[in-house]
Amino acid sequence: MAWAEDWAARIAGQACRWCEHGRPDEIEFGTRIYAGHVSDAYFARRAFVRGYVVVVWRGRHVVEPVDLTSTEADQYHREVLAVARAVRDHFRPMKLNYLTMGNWEPHLHTHVTARYYDDPGAGGPLPAVTPPLLDERQWRDDAAAVRKLLAA
Ligand SMILES: [Zn+2]
Repeated sequence: MAWAEDWAARIAGQACRWCEHGRPDEIEFGTRIYAGHVSDAYFARRAFVRGYVVVVWRGRHVVEPVDLTSTEADQYHREVLAVARAVRDHFRPMKLNYLTMGNWEPHLHTHVTARYYDDPGAGGPLPAVTPPLLDERQWRDDAAAVRKLLAA
């Protein structure tokens, strides 16, 4: 692994896909299951486990959570927790993981992942490689179920 060659541009928000594509309902990464006041959550098409969502900050280009105002930080984290709660309630995993990295795409986002006893990273992090494509029908059904919980 290495940092992206255009890292300075990425940090500056140039060619940031999360800033450029607005708030579409569906993107290559996944389908939107939640539109909060300050974030959108996308249910990933590719995952090692059932129950992988990325919550993306909406608004100006923000790299670090520490760049948010305290009000924004409260809103953002409340929305991350709402998404995590819905993932937990639907999938009943043994654990949830929350990852705010941005080492490749430095636009504030948080990975929320269900974890299971027999998943491919048992006892540690999930593998840091491209996950497999999920079964389309299962993925859509799961996304719809979590979306419904978030709308309740
Ligand atoms: Zn951005």
